[in-house]
Amino acid sequence: MVKYHVEQVTDKKFVVDNIYCNMCGKPIKKMKDRIGNPMFADYLRVNKTWGYFSNKDCRTDEFHLCEDCYDKLIKQFKIPVSQSNDYDFENKKYDKSGVKDNE
Ligand SMILES: [Zn+2]
Repeated sequence: MVKYHVEQVTDKKFVVDNIYCNMCGKPIKKMKDRIGNPMFADYLRVNKTWGYFSNKDCRTDEFHLCEDCYDKLIKQFKIPVSQSNDYDFENKKYDKSGVKDNE
C-alpha cells in the first residue's frame, strides 16, 4: 500500500529569452513548432574547447550565427563546406563532391 499526498512543487529553470548572432548582432528569429510551442529559427552554435597545445590552452569559446551570417561566412571559404542531407538516403554516404564521409 502506498499513502501519498499532493504537494505543490515549483522548480526554477533557465528559459532562453533570446539568442543573438555574434556576427550581425540581431536576435535569432522566434517561431512556433508544428504544435505551437515556441522555438528559434535554425542557427549555428559553435562551442569549442581548445586543446593544451593550442595558443588558447583549454579556453572554451562559444558563438552563434544566424543563417544569413552563416551563408556569408562560408562563401569566404576557399574549400566549400561539405554538404549532405539526412533525408537524401541515396546519397547519404557521399557529399556533393563525391567524397565519402567518414563512418
Ligand atoms: Zn547574423
